[in-house]
Amino acid sequence: ALGLAACGGSDRDGDTGTDTGTAAKGFAKDALIGVALPSKTSENWVLAGDLFTNGLKTAGFQSDVQYAGASTTVADQQAQITAMVTKGAKVIIIGATDAAQLSTQVTAAKAAGATVIAYDRLITNTKDVDYYIAFDNFKVGQLQGQALLDGMKAKKPTGPWTVELFSGSPDDNNAGVFFNGAMDVLKPLIDKGDVVVGSGQKDVKQTAIQGWKAEGAQSRMDSLLTSTYNGAKTLDGVLSPNDTLARAIITSVKAAGKPIPVVTGQDSEVESVKSIMAGEQYSTINKDTRTLVAESIKMVQALQTGAAPTVNDTKSYDNGSKVVPAYLLPPVIVTKANAAEAYANDPKLSALTK
Ligand code: BGC
Repeated sequence: ALGLAACGGSDRDGDTGTDTGTAAKGFAKDALIGVALPSKTSENWVLAGDLFTNGLKTAGFQSDVQYAGASTTVADQQAQITAMVTKGAKVIIIGATDAAQLSTQVTAAKAAGATVIAYDRLITNTKDVDYYIAFDNFKVGQLQGQALLDGMKAKKPTGPWTVELFSGSPDDNNAGVFFNGAMDVLKPLIDKGDVVVGSGQKDVKQTAIQGWKAEGAQSRMDSLLTSTYNGAKTLDGVLSPNDTLARAIITSVKAAGKPIPVVTGQDSEVESVKSIMAGEQYSTINKDTRTLVAESIKMVQALQTGAAPTVNDTKSYDNGSKVVPAYLLPPVIVTKANAAEAYANDPKLSALTK
C-alpha cells in the first residue's frame, strides 16, 4: 500500500504528511540507539541482533542490543528498556516479548525524549509507540492460509479437506494477526464445509502455543493424533504459523507413523528450507531479516537528521490506543516450486535449493 501515508486516513497530526512525533529535533550522529529483542524463539531473532549491532555501528551510532532471557522474558525486557532510557538512548527499537506489558517502559522512554519503534511485533494499548516496522503480518497469515489450500488441492483436487490449526504465543501480538490473516482465507471454506477442522478446535485460544515452543506444538499434535486421527480419518493439512512449530508438527506425525500432511510455516529457517526441498514441509514465508533491519536503521538515520521516517501505512495497525504509522514490507510465500527464485539473493538459503 505504498503512498497511503499521503492520503491522510488516520494520520493524527491533521496534516497530509507523516507523524513527525519527536523527529523534529534530531540528535547527535553518534547517539546511543537501544534495541530490545525478545528471546531467541526463531532464527530471525538471532540474525536481527547481529545485523543491528553491525549495521548501527557502520552508520556511526552507538548501540545497546539486548535479548530478553529464556525464562523471565517480560521482566528482563522491561529492565533492559528502562536501562536504555537511563543511558539516554535517542531511539529504542523493540521486538516485544509481551505486547501488552511494556506501556510503563515506553511511556518513560517518550518522557525522556526517545522515539519508540515497534519492530516486527506491535506494542499494544499505549499511545507511546511512534512507529511500527514489519513485514505485513496480516498478509503473512493470508499467504499461509492460501498455501495450505493450494498444497491440499495439489494432492487431492476435491474436498472436503480435513485440517488442524495452530497459532503462536498469545503474548505476541503477531500470533493473532497471523491467525486472523489465515482465517480470512480459510473461514469461508470452513463455513461452507469444504474445509473441516477435524478436532473442532478453531479458536485462537485452543490453537495457541505458549512461548512459540516446539515442544508445545509437538505435544498438542501428539494429542490431536490420538484423539482425532486414530481411526480412518486422514489429516490433509496443518496450518502452522512458523517453521519451528511446523517441524515439531512433522516430527509428531512421523513418530505416529502417519503420512505427512501439507504443513505451512514462516521464517525460512535453514532446517525448514531443507525440509521443503526434501518434500516434507510444504511452505514457508520469506521475511528477509536483512531488509527489515536495514529499513529500521534508515528510520533511525531520518530521525537523527530531524526528518520524519518514511511510512507507507497509516490505517492497518491499531494497537488499541492509536493507529501506529507503519512501514510495511511485503512477505513472500515460498514452496519447493519457487524456492530457488525466492532465495536468489540470499547466499545461505540459495545454496540449499541447488
Ligand atoms: C515473528 C515470527 C516468528 C515468531 C516466533 C513472531 O513475532 O514475526 O517471524 O516466527 O515471532 O519467534
